[in-house]
Amino acid sequence: NNPTPVTFIGLGPMGQAMVRVLLTGGHPVTVWNRTASRADGVVAAGAKRADSAADAVAENELVILSLTDYQAMYDILGPLGDVLKGRVVVNLSSDTPSRTREAAEWLAERGAELIAGGVMVPAEMVGQEGSYVFYSGPEAVFERFRDTLALIGRTDHLGADHALAQLFYQAQLDIFLTSLSAYLHANALLEAHGVPAERFWPYAESNFNTIAPIIGEAPGHIDSGEHPGDEANAKMMGATADHIVQASYEAGIDTGLPRAVKDQYDRAIAAGDGAKSWTSLFEQLRRRR
Ligand code: NDP
Repeated sequence: NNPTPVTFIGLGPMGQAMVRVLLTGGHPVTVWNRTASRADGVVAAGAKRADSAADAVAENELVILSLTDYQAMYDILGPLGDVLKGRVVVNLSSDTPSRTREAAEWLAERGAELIAGGVMVPAEMVGQEGSYVFYSGPEAVFERFRDTLALIGRTDHLGADHALAQLFYQAQLDIFLTSLSAYLHANALLEAHGVPAERFWPYAESNFNTIAPIIGEAPGHIDSGEHPGDEANAKMMGATADHIVQASYEAGIDTGLPRAVKDQYDRAIAAGDGAKSWTSLFEQLRRRR
């Protein structure tokens, strides 16, 4: 079996890294990027440069996109017309779940299939151990290109609903971004008392490492709607959240994130869940306020 030829559009840091692993895997790769100079490096590494997006798409059945968002896909593919017919577009750009569903319909109207993807690692980890990508879209279509896509990272195909890949991607980044902000906020509090980040880091690191086993019991609570409060209950955790707000205020630093957290505990306690597990906050979060 000859390696599948690939058209690759979007050569930011992610796209460039992906083109390189595809080339290393022996795939012929045709590239196009709005800013042509960004293709120079991968062309020197063996990729073929297309003169236009239309030429690039016309070249191969498999068209992979790595763009800032889904609007960029419309900007690039919108003017192409018939050339899209029969293509499988694997869009590895980030956006919301609903925008990926809309894009699947938009491509279907033009005779093309969408496989949506959410890449879970930064550029330097593309193609490396630990790299993985969430995919969603029709399974039979996905399976035809799985081996090619596997060069980028482990392929986790989540189901036929196109929204799933971005849903899982957003859920992972929800955890990730909030955790990073919490870490930075903790350091603002420390700095206000003259404690450098380097001194605190070993403790923060061990904190991150103990969070996963603590959260391990939460999925059962969330899925069952039962929040038995045998250990860390909402009332106790809420008092701690209040102390963090006060300490932040006294230190003259930003209080937005700890106030948001305290507010969640306040609502759980007001709803009568104070003696239940901290996971009872979930019942407040599952509704828009
Ligand atoms: P960049 O923003 O560097 O690159 C985006 C690409 O999109 C560029 O090729 C850019 O072209 C192109 N582009 C954007 N808007 C348009 C447009 N309107 N018309 C034509 N081309 C357009 O992004 P990255 O490579 O960092 O990321 C790509 C995707 O991967 C993003 O969705 C990002 O969220 C996601 N991602 C990124 C990670 C990271 O660590 N960087 C990690 C995981 C996912 P041009 O060069 O001309 O500007």
